[in-house]
Amino acid sequence: MELLNIKNLDLANKKVFIRCDFNVPMDEFGNISDDRRIRSALTTLNYCLDQDCAIILASHLGRPKGKVDEKYSLAPIARRLHHLLKREVTLASDVVGDDAMQKVKDMKCCDIILLENLRYEEGETLNDKTLSKKLADMADIYINDAFGVSHRAHASVEGIAHFFDTKQKAAGFLLEREIKFFGKLINEPVRPFAAIVGGSKVSGKLEALKNLLPKVDKIFIGGGMAFTFLKQMGYEIGASLVEDDLLEDAQTVMDEAKRLGVKFYLPVDVVAAEKFSADAVSKIVTAQEIPNDWMGLDIGPATVRLYREGLADVQTVLWNGPMGVYEMEKFARGSSKIAHFVADSYATTVVGGGDTADLVQRIGLDEEMSFISTGGGASLELLEGKILPGVAQLIIKED
Ligand code: AMP
Repeated sequence: MELLNIKNLDLANKKVFIRCDFNVPMDEFGNISDDRRIRSALTTLNYCLDQDCAIILASHLGRPKGKVDEKYSLAPIARRLHHLLKREVTLASDVVGDDAMQKVKDMKCCDIILLENLRYEEGETLNDKTLSKKLADMADIYINDAFGVSHRAHASVEGIAHFFDTKQKAAGFLLEREIKFFGKLINEPVRPFAAIVGGSKVSGKLEALKNLLPKVDKIFIGGGMAFTFLKQMGYEIGASLVEDDLLEDAQTVMDEAKRLGVKFYLPVDVVAAEKFSADAVSKIVTAQEIPNDWMGLDIGPATVRLYREGLADVQTVLWNGPMGVYEMEKFARGSSKIAHFVADSYATTVVGGGDTADLVQRIGLDEEMSFISTGGGASLELLEGKILPGVAQLIIKED
């Protein structure tokens, strides 16, 4: 897929509106605990600054639900941007109110203004046309660099793009890189190509699984979603997470894998626990022997060995979803072992954002992976084969 390219725009002395994804995690003291999303935007910001334009930055943070709430102010983002860019970044006290409008009106070349949290405005998530127009009227050029929200039809992501013609808008470098990487991964992977799919539920990943099946050579299932497949195969799964309404879909996925010759791997053992708790009594059992009322919270050591064997010859790995409840140390081992194996391999390794990116980062393996997406939900929708609403207005040529 080819997107409108920022390099083809005449940016000199223009006001450029850049939608970023600065929705970063904060700790209990209000400090930014992971600024990867802010740092990822720097390539586009520096490029624009080098073209002598004035920059209007916009992002959401958390879910203030259409109301002003200090807790979600972008003030910490402005400070971190200032620190990273070594330039003054002025925070407007509103989004499209008097303060933002006045500050934008007074801007000169190379000024940077950060609007307050876009979700202080109710119209943002409603893709309200009036809000889109107010945002669009601030600038001469629109750049979308917010991959993490490009699967949302929101006013600053989708609606706004309609107010600019093809010479006035483009994808930022981060958005372009993400779209290119996933396009290449899905359409021309170096084979054998394996997908490791985990996480809590089948429902969240069913469409992605169906879309991946004709493209991959092997699929490795982990996490809570494995139990719906195991139950459908006739195993007793105790109190493990299961989606009874998706048993038939699980069967369809397994039948389709068989028909297409895709090797479909399920856990052969699990770490079972008496309850869903970090200090629960736990033991390793085969998938056939999960005790009544116990729940599988991680893949077991035999599964780790099996998956390592299966992954040994692959050239491309896509990983989306943890193998167990990695937030609890006791049930993080399976994910950690798989992460180390994937990181050490010579394959191209792609981590699909969200929890998996968090997991890989916690273990300190983020530098070892070929690519870590900045958007969990967005990357999942790409894997489902969808065109993201925030990208649709920026496409020159589809794949
Ligand atoms: P998802 O958002 O669907 O990718 O799911 C990620 C969540 O799945 C993480 O918070 C994990 O704790 C959870 N998870 C992984 N394995 C299991 C499991 N066996 N049982 C319950 N939850 C799980």
